[in-house]
Amino acid sequence: MIYLDNAATTPMFEGAMEVMRQEACCNFYNPSAGYHAALNVSKSLNEARKTLLEKLGARKGDIIFTSGATESNNLAIFGSVRGGKTEYVFSGGEHPSVYNTARALQDKGGVVHFVPLGKNGQIDYDELEKVINDRTRLISIIHVSNETGAINDIKRVTLLRDKLAPNALVHVDGVQAFCKIQFSLDQLGIDLYTISAHKFGGPKGVGALYVKNKQALKNIVYGGGQEGGLRSGTENVAGIKAMEWAVKNIDVGANFKNTELLQKIFLENLDKKITWLETDSPYIISLSFPGVNGETLMRALENEVIVGTGSACSAKHAGNRILEGIGFNKDKIKSSLRVSFNAYQSQDEVTKAAKTISVRYNEILEKVK
Ligand code: PMP
Repeated sequence: MIYLDNAATTPMFEGAMEVMRQEACCNFYNPSAGYHAALNVSKSLNEARKTLLEKLGARKGDIIFTSGATESNNLAIFGSVRGGKTEYVFSGGEHPSVYNTARALQDKGGVVHFVPLGKNGQIDYDELEKVINDRTRLISIIHVSNETGAINDIKRVTLLRDKLAPNALVHVDGVQAFCKIQFSLDQLGIDLYTISAHKFGGPKGVGALYVKNKQALKNIVYGGGQEGGLRSGTENVAGIKAMEWAVKNIDVGANFKNTELLQKIFLENLDKKITWLETDSPYIISLSFPGVNGETLMRALENEVIVGTGSACSAKHAGNRILEGIGFNKDKIKSSLRVSFNAYQSQDEVTKAAKTISVRYNEILEKVK
């Protein structure tokens, strides 16, 4: 069985598993306790913060550990909300953990703007420029689309912020970008950045929010005041240290190159009737199978190749907000599947996967004719 749904989650590194076991066994102390053994755990969490900041290219700022990207996104958005005449800007291409949070903010009376997507899957920068103004408090734009692999030009977003709303915060959901594409938060001028460990070989249920200036954010959960008061609750130490192991052991540049090659080989081996949306991240690609229902094909393939019908969270909902936003018609959306690679897969694996997908596609096409 070949796994090509790495945007949903990735297999954990053996090294990260070993770290988790080691931490759970030998460093189980509560990092907030006052005795020596606990202080060592607290120090070890601070080392993990440093590792993350370094990989993110941030010299200033803090890392707030969370239970994953969904929580980080909620904290970034609801933690930024202020009263008065404030407005909030989101792209139409956000993951449900941002999109539904934005909708919840709207339901509570917040003034929320959704910026449409262009045909290439990126946000429409002209439309973005139109909605940013001096009332804008937060602009939240996904870095790499979990549906299409489109990479948004975040520098362009922060430059628009600098010009039109210098006091606004820029939040970026970087789940499909961190440890996959090269960037530096300092260079991009980002205030808040979301990451999730299980998308890059770490465990599920652990992630972080980078916060450039803690004063700009308010806590959304109340409790013992851990994580500088921004995220109460005892930290998932074993998970955090395993995430740190993954971060330390990933060579982003080499992995990117290898994944580019894997994607190229995969596409070369697909049946010519199959089309795809060209985007910049080699890790994710949205394929269309003319004349065939994507879900039928996904099930037919299940014992040989695992692919996705889109983000796991949106797979349960009818239609696809993001593909619709790019301008795909209903038939094209129904015939779409998402393939997402892991840099550590072999060329043979992806070649075999492409050939198998093509055979099953043609079989179904014959049947429905
Ligand atoms: N944002 C994006 C872009 C994602 O792909 C995902 C995972 N599907 C999430 C947020 C949610 O991540 P988590 O599972 O850590 O809550």
